[in-house]
Amino acid sequence: MTKIILHVDLDAFFVSMEIRRKPHLRGMPVIVGTLEKRGIVSTCSYEARAYGIHSGISTIQAYKLCPQAIFIPPDMNYYETASEQFNNILLRYTPAHEPYGYDEAFLNMQGTQRLFGTAETAGKLIRTEIQNEIGITASIGIASNHVVAKVASETAKPDGMLSIRAGAEAEFLSPLALRNLPMIGPKTEHVLKRLGLKTIGDLASFPREILIERLGKIGSVLHNRAQGVDLNPLHPRTIKSKSFSRETTFTMDEPSKTRLRGVLRSQAEKIARDISKNRQGARTVIVKIRFTPFETFSRSTTSSTQVTSSDQLFARTITLFESIWSEYGYPPLRLIGVGVTNLSPLAQQLQFGEELSTLQPNINKLRQRYGEKIILRAVELKNPTRKPYRFKKATTAPHEER
Ligand SMILES: [Mg+2]
Repeated sequence: MTKIILHVDLDAFFVSMEIRRKPHLRGMPVIVGTLEKRGIVSTCSYEARAYGIHSGISTIQAYKLCPQAIFIPPDMNYYETASEQFNNILLRYTPAHEPYGYDEAFLNMQGTQRLFGTAETAGKLIRTEIQNEIGITASIGIASNHVVAKVASETAKPDGMLSIRAGAEAEFLSPLALRNLPMIGPKTEHVLKRLGLKTIGDLASFPREILIERLGKIGSVLHNRAQGVDLNPLHPRTIKSKSFSRETTFTMDEPSKTRLRGVLRSQAEKIARDISKNRQGARTVIVKIRFTPFETFSRSTTSSTQVTSSDQLFARTITLFESIWSEYGYPPLRLIGVGVTNLSPLAQQLQFGEELSTLQPNINKLRQRYGEKIILRAVELKNPTRKPYRFKKATTAPHEER
């Protein structure tokens, strides 16, 4: 039986969210990213892309390409709420739902015809519901496998839908440039171009043996994909990030150790969820702090064992935090952040006293289903004797491609 995969992708998600609350920005080159040393473009509007700006380049480089661009620091709390709404809409259509990052998901629509009609009909409904409930646009690709569905949604962007008939996959991919095929990055593209290949069609008809010889195992995967065959389905859990981080910028300097610990705890919880979702463990933990106005310090620790649970991550975070903070005489902070890197597939062996990490997948499920706040550490709760939160979040956002 042919699979029916629907790939839903929010258009320029972070930027669209900013335009939703600041409609006067529509039609302008808008960049979500902080214009500062080491700032990175997380997402940019289609108008900014016309200047050659794209996700992942430095904001300083983006400024050089388009000095009139509007830079907005990321507000992850705001985006995360919308991301939850997005996934809740998709779950109305099928439980066979694989979220991929904040703004993309694959749905397997097999067996949903009686409820929603064809995948195209369901796709239309989904796009309308996203527009009505979140107020932004999404694009959808429909195909018999993940890879082709993803390429189709990219091709349909922005605000479009494209369905590829079973059997027509290779024909659809053939004229597209190599970079459109997931897994072809700049390096692989360079190798393929030196072999004289320009389009996905060129790749499909190229001798498989030579691809394997030049690229190793991946050569054979790419050869299949170029023919529209997805033998190694793009599964969200197999796509690994190299690092995760969370940062919080306070609008007023934060002197309270209790509050700072609370913020670190939330960040550790979120990162533990990210790495657990990816079935990874981290060996390096980094803590970053910024004193007023902008002196920034970071310190890291690397161990031979993987950090997998939020408790382990929090313990290491606090040690690092204390060591930097005490060194400078406990001044109030402007920014605080946690990051993990040196990620590797999760070691299955449990360690003594590690029971809590076995809870993590269930905590994640609860949060995915009922929202972030369904289960919290006591220290994360707002202190009732203090005024409500007065800091705004600015998290280093994962790069969003489109
Ligand atoms: Mg997107």
